[in-house]
Amino acid sequence: MLKETRSTCPYCGVGCGVVIESRGDQITGVRGDPDHPANFGRLCSKGSTLHLTAAPEITRQQRLLQPLRRAQRGDAPVAIGWDEALDDAATRFAGFIEAHGPDAVGFYISGQLLTEDYYVFNKLAKGQIGSNNIDTNSRLCMSSAVSGYKLTLGADAPPACYEDIDHAGCLFIAGSNTAWAHPVLYRRIEDAKRRRPDLKIVVVDPRRTDTASSADLFLQIQPGTDVALFHGMLHLMLWEGWTDSAYIAAHTTGFDELKARVRDWTPDRTAQVCGIPKEALAEAARLFAGGGAAPQDRHPTLSLYCQGLNQSSSGTAKNAALINLHLATGQIGKPGAGPFSLTGQPNAMGGREVGGMANLLSAHRDLANPAHRAEVAALWGLPSVPDKPGKTAVEMFQAAADGEIKALWIACTNPAQSLPDQATVRRALQRAEFVVVQEAFATTATCDFADLLLPATTWGEKEGTVTNSERRISRVRAAVPAPGLARHDWQIVMDFAHRLQARGIGPRHDLFPYDGPQAIWNEHRASTRGRDLDITGLSYDILETAPQHWPCPADASQGGAGETAAQARAPGQSTGSLGRARLYEDGRFPTPDGRARFAAVDHQPVAEPRSARFPLALTTGRLRDQWHGMSRTGTLGRLFGHAPEAVVQMNSGDMARRGLQEGELVHLSSPRGAIVLPAQASEDVASGQAYLPMHWGSEFLSGHDSTGQPSAGVNALTTSAFDPTSKQPELKHAAVKVVKA
Ligand code: SF4
Repeated sequence: MLKETRSTCPYCGVGCGVVIESRGDQITGVRGDPDHPANFGRLCSKGSTLHLTAAPEITRQQRLLQPLRRAQRGDAPVAIGWDEALDDAATRFAGFIEAHGPDAVGFYISGQLLTEDYYVFNKLAKGQIGSNNIDTNSRLCMSSAVSGYKLTLGADAPPACYEDIDHAGCLFIAGSNTAWAHPVLYRRIEDAKRRRPDLKIVVVDPRRTDTASSADLFLQIQPGTDVALFHGMLHLMLWEGWTDSAYIAAHTTGFDELKARVRDWTPDRTAQVCGIPKEALAEAARLFAGGGAAPQDRHPTLSLYCQGLNQSSSGTAKNAALINLHLATGQIGKPGAGPFSLTGQPNAMGGREVGGMANLLSAHRDLANPAHRAEVAALWGLPSVPDKPGKTAVEMFQAAADGEIKALWIACTNPAQSLPDQATVRRALQRAEFVVVQEAFATTATCDFADLLLPATTWGEKEGTVTNSERRISRVRAAVPAPGLARHDWQIVMDFAHRLQARGIGPRHDLFPYDGPQAIWNEHRASTRGRDLDITGLSYDILETAPQHWPCPADASQGGAGETAAQARAPGQSTGSLGRARLYEDGRFPTPDGRARFAAVDHQPVAEPRSARFPLALTTGRLRDQWHGMSRTGTLGRLFGHAPEAVVQMNSGDMARRGLQEGELVHLSSPRGAIVLPAQASEDVASGQAYLPMHWGSEFLSGHDSTGQPSAGVNALTTSAFDPTSKQPELKHAAVKVVKA
C-alpha cells in the first residue's frame, strides 16, 4: 500500500518540504510539499531525485549496513555486533581519557545531522566527557556569518525571511551563486522579478555565474576584495547623502570610527583594488541605498550572501562590512530589507542552536561566558562544564596530526575530502590511534581511515527537526525503517554514553534518559527559555501543523507575540508561522545597550596571494546538480548530465598563453599539492584566475601532496588559513599554477 510521509530535503539550507512516497520498507517516490512555506511544492534537480538515492541497489552497494572493525589499518573491515562495537569504542575512548585527559579525544560532526542528534553529541562531549573538542563541518560553512552577526547585531540570527524577497526593491547578492546553490529560492527571485520588472538585482562575484548573468548590475570583483567594495560603497553613500542619519543616531553605535575607516576608500582606490569600473561602484551604492531617492521614497534592499563571504580568512570582516551598509542606510528591520545569510547545509543553523561547536553552548550561549557555562551546567545537573576552548575543525585535525588528539569520532561528514589542505587531514587520520566513523554511506573517503565503522540511518529513515536559512524549523520524518543494522545517530551516541559511564567516565547520574527524539527536543527547547532563540512554544505537536520560525516563546504559540500568518503572507501564500519571521522591527538589538554596532573592520588581502611561482587565483564553488562530497548525489548517473567530470575552467586568453587546448589534461598545483584534470575555456572566469567545482574527491581526482604522498580531490590544493575570529578556513581561494600534464 502506498504511504505518504511529509519531511524535509536533506541537501541545502533552503529547507524544502518533501512528500515521500513509500511501499513497505521501500521509498518509491518524492515530490515537493505544496504546503511547505520554503518551497510551496517546488524541488530542484537534487531534491526531486532523492527517492532514487534510496533505491535497493544503491542501499546494497553504497550503504553501511552493519558495524565493521579493522584489525589494523589497511585491512578489510570485518562485521561485528553492535554490543561489541560500542563496548570496543567505549573501552578505547575511556582509556585515552584516563591516560591523557578528556581533551585527548575529539568529535567532528555535521550540519547534515538533525538538531536532536546534534544536541546529544554536544552533551556527550561537554557534559559526559568534559571536553569542548567538538566541532562540525558547519565551521566550513557558516561560522563567519555567525561572528559577523554577533559582532554587529549582537546575536546569531538572520533578521530577514524568504517573504522579504517579495517586498524588496533591490536584491544585493554577494558571494552566492544562488541559481545553483539554492535553486528553489532562486526560482522565487525569478518570480519576483517577473512580477515586478523594476526590482533591481545586483550581483557581486569574481566569476560570471548563472546568477550574475541575470543581474541588472554585475560587479566582477577581484577575489577577496569584498570589504574594499563595501567600504567604497559606504564612502560614496556618505558623499551623496544616501545614508540614514536618523536611523544611525537612534539605533547604532560606532559610526564615527567607521566613517574614519572608509574615508580613504575613494572611488578611484576602490575601483582599482576591486578591479571594477567606478560607474558600476557608484550604481551599486545608489541601488543599495534605496535608489538615490528622498528618504521616504527609498526602496528596501535585501542582501543575500553565502560562502563567497564566509569561506575566507577575513570572513567576519566581510560579513560585518556588508551589515554596516544595512545599518548606515536603515535597510534592516522592515519588509524587504536586511542582511540575509543563506545557510549552506540543511541544518547548520540547528547545530548552532544547540551549541554543537567548540566555542558555543546550548541555546546560543557562549563558552567564554562564565554565567552561560553555569546555566548549562545547571540545566544538565552538573557542577560545571569545561571552560577550556575546544579545537575548531582545522585545529582539531592539526592537533590529531601533531599527536595531541589520540581518538577521533567522525559523524555524518567526510573530512578526508571536504576539509582544506588534505595532506594534513590525511596525516591526522593516519596518526590518530583510534578513528570511529559513524556514517550512512560506506563509500566516503574517510571510511578508509576508520578503525570502527558504525552504520547510521539517513534521510527517509529518521525523525527529528532541522532549521533552514530563515530560522524556520521543520520536522524530518521517517518513511521507512532503518536498513540492515543501521541505528539512529542519537541512539548510537546514547548507547556509547551509557557504556562510557559504566567505565567511570562522566557523572554518576544518567545524562541521556531519552526514549526518542521528542524527549531530546523537549530538553533542548526548555534550554532556550529567555534566550534570543526562545522556542519554548514549539512542541512537536505545534510543528506537526506547520514549520515555524524562531523565536517562538510559549505565549506566541498560544496566539500571543510574533508575526501572524496574515502579516507574514507572501502574495497569495500563507506561511502560517507563529514565530517571528522578521527581527529588529522595533530598532532594538540584543546588545547590552540595545543598539547595533558598526564594525570598523579593515580590508585584508587573501591569505595566499598570487606569486611568480603560483600565478593564478583559484576560486571554488558548487555545481547545480551535485551536493558536497557527492556521497548521495554521486550515486545517480543522471545528475552527471550537467557536468560529467571535473574540469578546471580558465579564461581562453590564459589558456592560449600557456599553449593549452580545450579538454587537454593539465597539472594544477598549489603549495600543498597537485591534481591532474582537463582544462576548459570559459569567459565567465576572469584573466589571472581559475575555477574548480568543490565536489570532486579522490575517486575522481588523483594527485599528490607537496612531499609526493598520495593526496586527492580539490582540497589537495586549498589552504587551511582561517579567519581569526570565526576560524572558518579560506576554501574559496588559493594561489595555483597550471602546466600541461
Ligand atoms: Fe533540496 Fe535545496 Fe533543492 Fe530545495 S533547493 S530541493 S532544499 S537541494
